[in-house]
Amino acid sequence: MSDTAKPAATPLSAPQKALHKLGLYRDIDLALHLPLRYEDETRIVRLSDAREGEVVQIEARVTHSEVSFGGRKQLVVTVDDGSDTCTLRFFNFYPAQQKALAVGQQVRVRGEIRGGFMGWAMLHPSFRAAGGDLPKTLTPIYPTVAGLPQSYLRKAVLSGLARADLSDTFAPGDLSPLQHDSRQGLWTLHEALAFLHHPRPDVSVDALMDHSHPAWQRLKAEELLAQQLSQLQSRRARAALRAPVLALADGAGSLHQRLLGALPFALTGAQSRVSAEIALDMARPVPMHRLLQGDVGAGKTVVAALAATICMDAGWQCALMAPTEILAEQHFRKLLGWLEPLGITTAWLTGTQKAKDRRAMLALIESGEAKLVVGTHAIIQTKVQFKNLALAVIDEQHRFGVAQRLALRDKLQHASLEPHLLMMTATPIPRTLAMSYYADLDVSTLDELPPGRTPIVTKVVHEARRHEVIERIRAQVAQGRQVYWVCPLIEESEALDLSSATETHAEISAALESPDAKFNVGLLHSRLASDEKKAVMAEFVQGRTAVLVSTTMIEVGVDVPNASLMVIDHAERFGLSQLHQLRGRVGRGAAASACVLLYSTGDAPRLSETARERLRAMAETNDGFEIARRDLEIRGPGEFLGARQSGDAMLRFADLATDDAILEWARHEAPLLLDRHPALANKHVQRWLGTKAEFLKA
Ligand code: ADP
Ligand code: MG
Repeated sequence: MSDTAKPAATPLSAPQKALHKLGLYRDIDLALHLPLRYEDETRIVRLSDAREGEVVQIEARVTHSEVSFGGRKQLVVTVDDGSDTCTLRFFNFYPAQQKALAVGQQVRVRGEIRGGFMGWAMLHPSFRAAGGDLPKTLTPIYPTVAGLPQSYLRKAVLSGLARADLSDTFAPGDLSPLQHDSRQGLWTLHEALAFLHHPRPDVSVDALMDHSHPAWQRLKAEELLAQQLSQLQSRRARAALRAPVLALADGAGSLHQRLLGALPFALTGAQSRVSAEIALDMARPVPMHRLLQGDVGAGKTVVAALAATICMDAGWQCALMAPTEILAEQHFRKLLGWLEPLGITTAWLTGTQKAKDRRAMLALIESGEAKLVVGTHAIIQTKVQFKNLALAVIDEQHRFGVAQRLALRDKLQHASLEPHLLMMTATPIPRTLAMSYYADLDVSTLDELPPGRTPIVTKVVHEARRHEVIERIRAQVAQGRQVYWVCPLIEESEALDLSSATETHAEISAALESPDAKFNVGLLHSRLASDEKKAVMAEFVQGRTAVLVSTTMIEVGVDVPNASLMVIDHAERFGLSQLHQLRGRVGRGAAASACVLLYSTGDAPRLSETARERLRAMAETNDGFEIARRDLEIRGPGEFLGARQSGDAMLRFADLATDDAILEWARHEAPLLLDRHPALANKHVQRWLGTKAEFLKA
C-alpha cells in the first residue's frame, strides 16, 4: 500500500492496525470486504419448534442458575420460553454474565441446539437481554484477524459502505450478455454490495454461498474487468517504451545462420514458428514481453539460443538467468557447446563462485567482451554491469519474484531504452489463466516434442512392491541405462529428508552389488556444497553413475537422454505439476522410458481424494497442457502463478474454473471502456486494485 493511503500522524489503535493487516485502508476496501457467511438473527424460534443441530435464536426466562463444580467448573442455566426448556452451559464466565443470567431475567439466546437425555441444551451460546427490535436482514460474519472483533469490523464496514463512492463505472445493462434470461445482469454495484453485506432473510442461502447470486455476478464482473483493464493499461504503457531494434541478420555469415547450420538436429515446426515470433518482437523498437511455454523436453533452450544469436548479431549483449545453479550450469554447458565454436565468449555467474573468478567474469561483462552471460540470480546483483544488455531470458520464470525480474530489466543502463524480455516455463498455463493473470504477456507455445521420442509409460505402484521396482532398476542398469530415484522433500526437516535419501542410496547400492559388474549410485541433496553437487551431477551426465538418488533438486531442466527410468518415492506427497516436471527428466532419448510413482498411504487406510486424482492424472496423460488443466481444477490458480502471485493481486471473488463466461465478457469490455471512457476505466482500476495494480505488471 502506498504511504499516502496510511494516516501518518495519529498512532493507530489495535483494531485499526488489524484492519490494515486485512488490507482495509480505504472506504472502498471496507465496502468490498465481503462476509464469509451469515447468521439469521431475524427470527425468534420457539423451543418446541427447534430441530437438533440447528443454530437458533430463542427468547426465554431464566428459571434456574447455578455454578456446578462436578468435574469442570461450569455455569449451568435453565431457561423456559413457555413451549419448552433448555439448559445453557458455560465453562468460562464472568460475574457480570452470571448476573445477566440470574433467575427471573428475560434473555435472548443464540446458539446451536442439541437434544440430549436431559432435553435441549446449548454450549456457550451468545446471549443478551430479551426485547428490542429484531434485525431485518441476515447478520454478516466477516473474515477477520486476531484483535479485530466482529462488532468493530461490522461498524467499520458499514461506515465504509456508507461513505465509499459506489457509482457505477459500467451500466448494469452492459452485463446483460452474461445473463439473457433473468434480472441477473441488472444489479448496480451499490445494490450488489448493500445486498451482500445485509441480505434479506428470504434469500437463497445456497446462491449466496456458491456465489451464483446476481449480486455476486456483478462483483465478479467488476473484479475481472479491473484485472483486464489493469493488464491492458500495462500492455499499452509498455508499447510506449523503447527497446533496441534487434533485426534478424539472415546472411550466411551471421551467428544466427551459423548456429542453425551447426545444430545436430533440425528444428521442429513448433520451434521454427516460435523462433519467428520472437524474432519479429525483437526487431521492433518496443520491448518484447513474451512467455515461451513448452512442455518439459520440448526444446526451449535452443529457441533461447537462437534469440541470443539475433541479439549478438546486432552487436548487443544477452543474459540468461535460471533459478538453480545446477540448471544454470547445464544451460551454460549447452550454450557453450553451441556458441564457443562460433567464437562467442560466454560469461558464467553464480553466487558460489570464487571471488577471483567472479571478478574476471564481471570484467568480461562490463567490457562487453562476453556477449552472453549465463547464471543464477547472481546476474541481477548491483555489482554486475553490462556494457549493453538488450535481451534478458528467464528460464522457469515462475520461480523468480517480481522484484528479481524487474532488476534484470534494469540492467540495461540506458536512459531511454528497455531490454527485451523472454520468459520461459515448462508449466503450461491453462487458457483461463493466460487470459487473466497473464493477459499482459504475449505467449508462444511449443506444442510439439522433438521427433523420435517414445512416450513415457507411467505406473502407479504401492510401496509394498518396492522390491519389484528395485528389480526393475537392476534390469535397466544391466542394459546400460540410467535411472533417477527421487526422494520427497520432507517439509521443514532437512535432516529427515537427508536420512531418507541416504537410506535409499544405501538400499539401492546394496541391491546393485554384483560380482561381474560395478554400478555406481550417486546421491544428490541440498546439504552438499555447490562443487560437490556439480561433481555428482557431472558423474551422472557422463554416465559414470548408473542411478542418481536425489531430493527434488533435479526437478527442473536436467537433461540426460540415456536416463530411461524415473522412480518417484512417496509420489503422493508431490504436486501434480511437480510430478510432471520430474517425469520429464526421462523420455529424452529414443529408448522406451518409464516412470514409477511409488506411493504409500502411511497410517491412513487409503490415499486422500486429491492425491488419488493427481496420481490418476499422471497415469492417464503425458500431455503437459492436460496436466495443467487438471492441476488448476485440483488446486486453483495459486500454484501456477508462483512468484507472480502476490496475495494482493489474486482474484478474490471470481473463480477461473467456473467464471469463464464472465472472463470472456471482461476481455471484450475492457478495451471498449478504456478507449471510450478512459476516466471511468481509471476509476474502476483504482477502486478495485488501488496501488495493488503494480503487482500485476511485472
Ligand atoms: P526444455 O524445453 O525442457 O528446456 P531442452 O531445451 O532441454 O528442453 O531440450 C530437450 C532435449 O531435446 C535436449 O537434449 C535438446 O538438445 C533436444 N532437442 C531440442 N530440440 C530438438 C530437435 N528439434 N530435435 C531433436 N532434439 C532436440
Ligand atoms: Mg529447460
